[in-house]
Amino acid sequence: MTGVMFDRIALIGIGLIGSSIARDVKALGLAREIVVSSRSAETLGRAQELELGTSYVASAAEAVRDADLVVVSVPVGASEEVAKQIAPSLKPGAIVTDVGSTKASVIAQMAPHMPESVHFIPGHPLAGTEKSGPDAGFIGLFQGRWCIFTPLPGTDERALDTLKSFWAALGSRIDEMDPQHHDKVLAIVSHLPHIIAYNIVGTADDLEAVTESEVIKYSASGFRDFTRLAASDPTMWRDVCLHNKDAILEMLARFSEDLAYLQRAIRWGEGEKLFELFTRTRAVRRSIIEAGQDVDVPDFGRHALDKR
Ligand code: NAP
Repeated sequence: MTGVMFDRIALIGIGLIGSSIARDVKALGLAREIVVSSRSAETLGRAQELELGTSYVASAAEAVRDADLVVVSVPVGASEEVAKQIAPSLKPGAIVTDVGSTKASVIAQMAPHMPESVHFIPGHPLAGTEKSGPDAGFIGLFQGRWCIFTPLPGTDERALDTLKSFWAALGSRIDEMDPQHHDKVLAIVSHLPHIIAYNIVGTADDLEAVTESEVIKYSASGFRDFTRLAASDPTMWRDVCLHNKDAILEMLARFSEDLAYLQRAIRWGEGEKLFELFTRTRAVRRSIIEAGQDVDVPDFGRHALDKR
């Protein structure tokens, strides 16, 4: 049992990630008070109906007053605006962190506004779903998932340890890397797969030779697996693309080169090349299962869930 870690936690943004944090903090009793803040009355009201916190305020500046831990969970493009709003009311000694999917850009947006008296420690939990909003969160979202920290040079070790203990209490596995490296790694493991999914679903939607009803009717042949990623929040993913531009463009260039190789192998009937690649990629899937990052159930476990 971890017990109370903070007197007051302020959650700025209460969508999928913020509300999952709130649910875990409440269930585990990690804070005496959870102050919830969201810019729209609709989201804030819904958070209150769901009893995600102990108090609810629209103003981010008001929410962070006297908070020992501030977690910013908004689209990465909104980071600077939020940093400007909260900076004047942060409590000296507070830990300020975020959960943004890009790190160099969030640091560039937030760090200049952070007072010297607070510990600003950027982070990114590698956990989520294609759903958004306060209803989408759930207890245990972070269980067994990685949380990567990209601390700035000179970060206070005790504050960093406290934040790591907090995420570990939510069930996360902890890692640390520099922001540029984080952005490159995430470009390939997360950003590119989403962009490819958005693209393939968009292409299918545009096809005139195949009717829309056929795309839907026969989707279980593979297409369906891309639609889950392509159903992700448009605002969040617009911001990820705009705020990790260089790493994404670099990975897209590599991807296009490799796609051309594949295209050529198909054109020239080079079965051996295709077989070698498909064998290699199958081994990657095995490694993911061995690492506990997915379950070894056919069709991503959907049939197993259907039978429950
Ligand atoms: P979400 O469910 O869409 O919730 C977004 C929250 O941010 C809401 O409270 C929303 O407030 C607020 N917000 C939106 N635009 C804003 C703006 N311009 N200024 C201030 N607040 C704003 O999003 P989420 O999935 O929790 O994602 C939050 C962050 O987590 C993002 O940075 C994302 O990159 C990162 N992340 C997401 C995932 C994932 O799988 N979803 C995984 C890891 C990290 P209103 O509803 O009141 O407008």
